[in-house]
Amino acid sequence: MALLDVQNISVRVEEKQVLSNVNLQIQSGETHVLLGPNGAGKSTLGNAIMGNPVYTLTGGKIIFDGQDITEEKTDKRAKAGLFLSFQNPLEVPGISLETFIRSAIQQRTGERVKLFQFQKELKANMELLNMDASYAGRDLNVGFSGGERKKSEILQLLMLKPKLAILDETDSGLDVDAVRTVSKGIEEYQKRHGGALLIITHSTRILESLNVDYTHILVKGTVVKTGDGSLVQKINENGFDEYIK
Ligand code: ADP
Ligand code: MG
Repeated sequence: MALLDVQNISVRVEEKQVLSNVNLQIQSGETHVLLGPNGAGKSTLGNAIMGNPVYTLTGGKIIFDGQDITEEKTDKRAKAGLFLSFQNPLEVPGISLETFIRSAIQQRTGERVKLFQFQKELKANMELLNMDASYAGRDLNVGFSGGERKKSEILQLLMLKPKLAILDETDSGLDVDAVRTVSKGIEEYQKRHGGALLIITHSTRILESLNVDYTHILVKGTVVKTGDGSLVQKINENGFDEYIK
């Protein structure tokens, strides 16, 4: 049974039909890449899977880890092991990065976090991501640069250990070194936790050290092609032209 089974979903945003009859199956531990021109509906698919209420399902079903989550709220989906990193992470004044991650883990597991263990793990992951230790005590994303926000998202991923992470353009706007660091973090999540991934991206750099199982091309709200990892390189060279008709 697939970990994520998106069955024929159609999605509307503010009277606009954005996705039509999209199917997507992801098995435990698999890495899928979602490519497509701007405005194709990639972020919409991520948001619909996560249950963002702005996106209305007009048809289809979403099964995650054996549960029908089609009608579940976002927090329930997160609890079940879904994670979405945002294209533009929000600032949350008044809550430190550390507190935010700790309460997210508590909500997910329903158990109190053991502080010593938690802080040790947080420190190790921050070192892996080349994040200064002082960031743990800073308000979530407030005054963080674009790169720091993306790293804070990957830090959350490593600490929360979801079963499936959807990364929406986590690499956009990052310099070469930051892309490498973020990619290393994602690789750790893949290897250490056997986590599954749906990576939405426009660049191949972030994928270099990752093993990609499947690539999907989304055009105008429809998956027009699914292939293996080599499709990424092909698109990189030839663009989407042959799929836009
Ligand atoms: P992509 O991520 O592939 O670039 P999106 O999913 O962000 O595309 O957007 C697909 C279409 O849906 C676009 O036409 C966009 O304007 C519209 N859309 C997406 N999200 C919203 C929103 N929150 N409010 C209004 N329109 C939206
Ligand atoms: Mg997008």
